[in-house]
Amino acid sequence: MCASVVDAVERRAAGRPVARVRVRVGALLHVHPEAFGQSFEVAAAGGVAEGAQAELVVVPARAACGACGSEFEVYSQPAACPACGEIAFEVDGGEELTLVSIEYRPPAMEASGGAGASTAPSGLSETKGVPDVPGHTG
Ligand SMILES: [Zn+2]
Repeated sequence: MCASVVDAVERRAAGRPVARVRVRVGALLHVHPEAFGQSFEVAAAGGVAEGAQAELVVVPARAACGACGSEFEVYSQPAACPACGEIAFEVDGGEELTLVSIEYRPPAMEASGGAGASTAPSGLSETKGVPDVPGHTG
């Protein structure tokens, strides 16, 4: 499941480093955000989305009650109508998994992991007179 999301991310990113992705997930898939994040991390390893944050947007399914006609949001099944308590069988959606948006890392990214133990020698400047360049022909 995560692999298909990562696949979609990599295709859309086209080589750009990804900072964060937002994924719409149907409530009926019962995806746990933390579990999704972890498996996304694993699936994204080695690609452009490596280290990217996955943000889940849980989208409820919709159901229309066959008894009283009221429409309501469904987060799990079986869904009982909040108005009359009837079990609604016709549930629409709730099983989608859609890549919504991608945030890319800024291009001016500082490379991490520099050994900062080198002390630059200060006061070691050569004072040189700029020689006059004779006669340009242009
Ligand atoms: Zn009802």
